[in-house]
Amino acid sequence: GHLDEVSNGLVTAHFGRQVEVEATDGPHQGKRQRCHVRANVESLVTGDKVTWRPALDELQEGVVEARQERKSLLARPDMRGTMKAVAANVDQLLLVVAPEPEPFANLIDRYLVAAEDSGLEPVLVINKWDLISQGQVSPVISQRLDSFLEIYREIGYQVLATSTQSEEDLRDLKQQLKGQISVFVGQSGVGKSSLINYLLPGVDLRVGSLSEDSRKGRHTTTTAKLFHFPEGGQLIDSPGIREFALGYLEANALAEGFREFRPFLGLCRFRDCSHQKEPGCALQSAVAEGKIRQQRFDSFLHLLTSL
Ligand code: GDP
Ligand code: ZN
Repeated sequence: GHLDEVSNGLVTAHFGRQVEVEATDGPHQGKRQRCHVRANVESLVTGDKVTWRPALDELQEGVVEARQERKSLLARPDMRGTMKAVAANVDQLLLVVAPEPEPFANLIDRYLVAAEDSGLEPVLVINKWDLISQGQVSPVISQRLDSFLEIYREIGYQVLATSTQSEEDLRDLKQQLKGQISVFVGQSGVGKSSLINYLLPGVDLRVGSLSEDSRKGRHTTTTAKLFHFPEGGQLIDSPGIREFALGYLEANALAEGFREFRPFLGLCRFRDCSHQKEPGCALQSAVAEGKIRQQRFDSFLHLLTSL
């Protein structure tokens, strides 16, 4: 046949029934090929690790034979509210905030819970730091960002300050991206596109690499695609991923998503404690004892009532 030995690969884009696979070992390493997928293979999304047979002739198609176990799965609700998988094996979720649009703790916590629930490590990126260091931000917002830095670092999250205004301000972020598969999320206007454009110079984010294949014409797709950062690490990106937000969550999953609450869960007097007004609530006590920040607890209650 026209196929080579079985090797390992990574799904880098998705086109209807077909996928684009990048060889991660063997003589083809780093090369991408369009593939069809054997009927017995479970559904694939960008970031999936697969075993496949590359086509010997690059003009033909490879074949995906199996999907490997997933480390994480990022899903988002579709128009009907049904959760739909969009990317697999993402390591970290870079949650971008900025002095403008005005950042809210509730929104950050909502993203953090969603990340925890999906098995992704969230990293808080405070972008447009140049505006803060140049004093162009109102004291209220500036203080709020300072408090985010303190609060989220205290509970164990990485918090980075960045700006797209200097190479220097992107150094920590570049370091953070190495060796990981990342996604960028956050409100519109915080600077996600600007950051990505700086980190991936010369890459047209709207068009998959398959579009270079003139034989098949241009294929634009709104599904997630995988890119390599020149200084290491990978990005999975799509318009849908950038808007990644909280889907339906059980109240229990919500409390679990506040990572500093975990040691206290299950310690309330009532097993079905809603942590709102019940006596003997371990979370309320932890707040009173300063082990949980009031702001995070308020945010939790706010999200709880919005479920
Ligand atoms: P997105 O909606 O999150 O993708 O945000 P954009 O990348 O489109 O950026 C929104 C606006 O913020 C644009 O006008 C950018 O030029 C500006 N912007 C992005 N990053 C920075 C930054 O680090 N500093 C400053 N001062 N402006 C920035
Ligand atoms: Zn309780």
